Amino acid sequence: MSQPTADVIVVGGGPAGVAAALALRKQGVERIVLVEREGHLGGATRHCSHSPFGMREFGRVYFGAAYGRRLEREAERAGIDVRLGHSVTNLGETGRLEIANGRGVEEISGHRVILGTGAREAPRSARMLPGDRPIGVLTTGTLQSYMAFQGLMPFRRPVIVGSELVSQSAILSCLTHGATPVAMVEPSPHALARAPFRWLPRVTGIPFYPGAQILDIRGRDRVENVRISWQGEQLDLACDGVLLTGQFTPEASLVRNSQFALNTGSGGPAVDQSGRCENPIYFAAGNLLRPIETGGWAFREGRAIGLAVAGDLEREPCETRAVEVRHDDPIKLVVPNLIRRDAVTGLESFQLRFARRSTGTLTLLLDGEPVFRKRGSWHPERRVLTPVPRAAFEARDIRFSFDEDK
Ligand SMILES: Cc1cc2nc3c(=O)[nH]c(=O)nc-3n(C[C@H](O)[C@H](O)[C@H](O)COP(=O)(O)OP(=O)(O)OC[C@H]3O[C@@H](n4cnc5c(N)ncnc54)[C@H](O)[C@@H]3O)c2cc1C
Repeated sequence: MSQPTADVIVVGGGPAGVAAALALRKQGVERIVLVEREGHLGGATRHCSHSPFGMREFGRVYFGAAYGRRLEREAERAGIDVRLGHSVTNLGETGRLEIANGRGVEEISGHRVILGTGAREAPRSARMLPGDRPIGVLTTGTLQSYMAFQGLMPFRRPVIVGSELVSQSAILSCLTHGATPVAMVEPSPHALARAPFRWLPRVTGIPFYPGAQILDIRGRDRVENVRISWQGEQLDLACDGVLLTGQFTPEASLVRNSQFALNTGSGGPAVDQSGRCENPIYFAAGNLLRPIETGGWAFREGRAIGLAVAGDLEREPCETRAVEVRHDDPIKLVVPNLIRRDAVTGLESFQLRFARRSTGTLTLLLDGEPVFRKRGSWHPERRVLTPVPRAAFEARDIRFSFDEDK
């Protein structure tokens, strides 16, 4: 078998991937290749024409595009071999990657590979929205690319669907670029963003419809009207666009195509406490692990996984069987969802999310014995953190139970 061309290949040049590459370099790892399909590093942050980014990792506040440029400068300064315009199309069993670029298809291989391919918003088809198919229905990511790269605002009076943090940031993007949302529509009974962000519609005078369902999108050439059902009534919202926000899913196509185990709760790869996938050569970090966290969180996670991989390079890829972390309803996901006895620690906490608003007692059980208990009230799409106890590394059965208040 030919020698790997890199010690570590990092796939994805967003905050997680760049931070992982920088951490590896800092630990003295020599041959690091960072592969990014776009023409610049920065990932999703490049499209964000707003702040705040970079406070914790760089000690100052950046707008998204400037933050992306800072990541580029850091990678250059560290002497990382960055391959822009290169898209990884296949993950080989032994760390050999197939990569398409403008010149053709090539292969490179690494002793280890870190995946940091991020997350994407659910498009219209995945949300099963009925009605016409006119111009003007798009996701926040697409809107932000239009604004950042083409100086375009594709509508003036959109209906915003969703109420996550990204949905609130979409309000600001619209208002600062000459568009006034006519309504914010949320299928769940409550706003999903935390306070104070959840108050933004009220502060900006945008009607908010929680618990609403979209019944129809109408328009011949472009969107003209959205009909919703809300509190037993049907309302027609005259508008010229529909902005689909949030409902992120990990960008896990590569992982799925390579038939690595998936974490069915998060939709990302199954990983252990070092971020290692089922295939021991591969690791994952950032929003690929679970949708979605802030840029700063993705950066810190990338750094932690980079450090874990640097430690792991000294050893043979660990082959021990992983114990799966199980969980009760209404817990939606747990990351990491595998624990391996001899893995290097990268993720120090279990991160959980709830599928719906829930109040009760969360318990971590190791071989049936409770080792951690927390009472609380939890909202969907908000992180819940509990430490990964060392005793978990020895357990044969790991489970989060939830005793919901009646
Ligand atoms: C609309 C929006 C607004 C946001 N606002 C804020 C904010 O105000 N503050 C904040 O802190 N965070 C914000 N975020 C979140 C922040 O942008 C993300 O948390 C962060 O970018 C995630 O980093 P990541 O490295 O995990 O993934 P990403 O930034 O998504 O990077 C993934 C990278 O992988 C590349 N890639 C994917 N597949 C391949 C492949 N096959 N081959 C090669 N490369 C590939 C992609 O091109 C991309 O560059 C926002 C996100 C969005 C979408």
